[in-house]
Amino acid sequence: MCSEFDIIHRYFKRPAPGAVLGIGDDAALITAPDKTELAISTDTLVCGIHFFADVDPNTLGYKSLAVNLSDMAAMGAKPRWSLLSLTLPEDLVKQNTTWLTEFSQGFFALADAHHVELIGGDTTSGPLNICIQIIGEVAAGKALRRSGAELDDDIWISGQLGNAALALNHELRRITLEPDEIAQCLPALLTPSPRVKLGQRLIGLAHSAIDLSDGLMADLGHILAASDKAACIHMADIPCSPLLKKYLQQSMAIDCLLAGGDDYELCFTAPKINRGKIAALAAELAIPLTRIGEISAGQGLIVKDAQGNTMTLETQGYDHFRARD
Ligand code: ADP
Ligand code: MG
Repeated sequence: MCSEFDIIHRYFKRPAPGAVLGIGDDAALITAPDKTELAISTDTLVCGIHFFADVDPNTLGYKSLAVNLSDMAAMGAKPRWSLLSLTLPEDLVKQNTTWLTEFSQGFFALADAHHVELIGGDTTSGPLNICIQIIGEVAAGKALRRSGAELDDDIWISGQLGNAALALNHELRRITLEPDEIAQCLPALLTPSPRVKLGQRLIGLAHSAIDLSDGLMADLGHILAASDKAACIHMADIPCSPLLKKYLQQSMAIDCLLAGGDDYELCFTAPKINRGKIAALAAELAIPLTRIGEISAGQGLIVKDAQGNTMTLETQGYDHFRARD
């Protein structure tokens, strides 16, 4: 059985040349480069809410960091440092000696890919819970905010929406997908690609941005509320996989597209004059960027169907404290 300190040293202590002081003291020390601001955010993953208890630990380590990187992407920040607070059940540490190895490998694979250093954290025993704090840097005054949307801005989406929610519906046995279908959409749920590079490149092109963690309607709704604007989006323009399209006759699939969480794509607004530059950026980064609607004056979000009729929708984004039936 390893002690708290064995766990830290064995699995998490790594050199952190980008910090003044990394793991090992009461606090880490970092220097904010000149003329930059630090973007700081934290996200918790709770067993039974954000992941299944039997999830592959490598995947869990990856995704725990991915959702945090996605917040940096949404701000246009370059992620630099992270802190990892782990609450581990005693029997997991005792019985499954490979769990921490695999979890840390999944975490560091993504951290290394983005040159993010682990500079601290906390290790306690209790029900499995992972809390990561991420710190990034962004040129002073340049961060992308939810509040920047302007009248007549285009509304853009990166990648495709809905596959993660489709996979989750399958895992929860609300629908049954064929094995080849689940193989197509499960990666979106387990190993989303945070749009870190895209977020940084949108500075100077986009007026506002958010990452889609709770569903398009809810998250675009946050941009509208923060910017005091309204919007109209077109259902037929929302990018989705051929697989999801196949199910779009069912309200479940419409829900996945409009309100399914866990996509970790970016939704951003930009002036029409930037259409050409944004298309060029999509080609350069090989990330599909799709226009789905437009910002208008007033309040509220309207979704139009392929015939141009306003859709009546009951879908809402994920809210941890909303009553469920
Ligand atoms: P303290 O008791 O002063 O809070 P700890 O004993 O909890 O310090 O942690 C010792 C060092 O190990 C600190 O630098 C802390 O940031 C780091 N640390 C603890 N747990 C983790 C973890 N899971 N991942 C990375 N660093 C960790
Ligand atoms: Mg201390």
